[in-house]
Amino acid sequence: MAAQSEDRPYTLADPVAPLVRRVLARNPSPFTYTGTQSYIVGDGESVAVIDPGPDDAEHLNALVGAIGDARVAAICCTHTHRDHSPAAAPLAGITGAPVIGCAPLTLEDDGPRADAAFDPGYRPDRVLGDGEAITGDGWTLVGVETPGHTSNHVCFALPESGALFTGDHVMGWSTSVVSPPDGDMAAYMASLTKLYEREEDRIYFPAHGPAVEKPRQLVRGMIGHRKQRERQILRQIGEGRRLITEMVPHMYKGVDERLWPAAGRSVLAHLIDLEQRGEVARSDHEWRIAR
Ligand SMILES: [Zn+2]
Repeated sequence: MAAQSEDRPYTLADPVAPLVRRVLARNPSPFTYTGTQSYIVGDGESVAVIDPGPDDAEHLNALVGAIGDARVAAICCTHTHRDHSPAAAPLAGITGAPVIGCAPLTLEDDGPRADAAFDPGYRPDRVLGDGEAITGDGWTLVGVETPGHTSNHVCFALPESGALFTGDHVMGWSTSVVSPPDGDMAAYMASLTKLYEREEDRIYFPAHGPAVEKPRQLVRGMIGHRKQRERQILRQIGEGRRLITEMVPHMYKGVDERLWPAAGRSVLAHLIDLEQRGEVARSDHEWRIAR
């Protein structure tokens, strides 16, 4: 972990790496830790803003102050949860910058994929595909598609600093919530493996919590943790707990109970993944071993 202070005041732009400054929004919660961290990339004539955050006047003012006289070449969103993208439109209005990053969620699938956590107003000027780049004065941002936490999640690599902006895909302080139907555990695991195979990233800057200085080690640990959860779920079913609401209190003993509903969503995501692999089956809300 980077030696970043966790008691930073809001509204200040902290330099956290060459070319990277961080502005913390005042939206702390059990899901956002100390709040959403927006990053400003570039120290020359043009900058990019990653995850502008919630549409909050104090945070917008802080971003505008930190941008100063620089031209904003791009406002980049990792995904469209409400703590990440709603400030994109007002910031674009103030700066004239294009919104370039994740795709808007496709809602025409079987049933609603978007719940109250999503920002339905997100309208990108350009979707940054995997491997596509945006360039500015002394910096490049490359899209790294990482579906799983949400279907539209994308990370941004900054090769000049060996940095990867990981949004909510990989965070040091907590595991990522994977909530079906938009969240997808099989996709999430594939996206973890994808990051593990990227040896060029020396530091991660997540949207919440401290920077991660040994990123591949953390990602390997997370893959192991998810596999362990999967085994734990199979054991729960084996011991006769068929409902997610029966499994969660056993699996998440000692975890803040406010997080149990979200934990239940992650258990469901694992079960769907196991179901697709033929390991478990369900009738209504009851799960059983399929083999
Ligand atoms: Zn999120």
